[in-house]
Amino acid sequence: MVSAIVLAGGRGKRMGSVQSKQYIDLNGKPILYYTLKQFIENDLIDKIVLVIPEDEKDYCKNEVLDKYGLIIDSIVFGGKERQDSVYNALVQLEGSDIVLIHDGARPFASQRIINDAIKYAKIYKAAAPGVMPKDTIKVKDEKNFSVDTLIRNNLVAIQTPQAFDFNIIYECHKKVKGRGIIVTDDTMVVELFGNKVYIYEGDYTNIKITTQEDLILAEYLVKK
Ligand code: C5P
Repeated sequence: MVSAIVLAGGRGKRMGSVQSKQYIDLNGKPILYYTLKQFIENDLIDKIVLVIPEDEKDYCKNEVLDKYGLIIDSIVFGGKERQDSVYNALVQLEGSDIVLIHDGARPFASQRIINDAIKYAKIYKAAAPGVMPKDTIKVKDEKNFSVDTLIRNNLVAIQTPQAFDFNIIYECHKKVKGRGIIVTDDTMVVELFGNKVYIYEGDYTNIKITTQEDLILAEYLVKK
């Protein structure tokens, strides 16, 4: 069984809007509509769990799921941090073989990217799409002076969906939770316990909508 977790359990404070960012309008429909549609349309995925803040349940049901006829398997309530939201969803997915974990704020994950996530997770147990950073990446010190310039060919900006062997990611998340470790994504969770993640070609259009200026490109991409 292949399951997918779509994470919309945060509010997206960096967006600077009152409304949670998953409901921001993109050409007449909320961001979350586009994200869910990509997963619903994928034939390899058997089960979809959506994570949202508890107090958004009615709004999300009425204004996204029912309004656009989006059928998912269950809604789970988010936790304080992203990793808590992932954990809450994993608990509901026991018995899965492969699980994909995707940011609700990435509405343009293509079918190719989703299919590759599943394909490589079956082979390597953990996989994520990535793109080469366009800028030169430096390390700086506390006083804002450069310390090092990283070699661009070795760098990769990691996207989602990230896909895993279910038992591996579940066991690693349990340990992270038990030990109070802070992580920013799920590849980190498995790496902490010695697992390697296969990184395959992502796409520059698979953007995460984080700040206002991301909406300009998103509007363009949705019309395209
Ligand atoms: O804040 P950021 O954009 O990095 O969050 C990535 C994704 O994780 C978003 O789709 C957000 O809704 C989700 N998230 C969550 N639960 C939290 C915080 C973030 O599901 N507590």
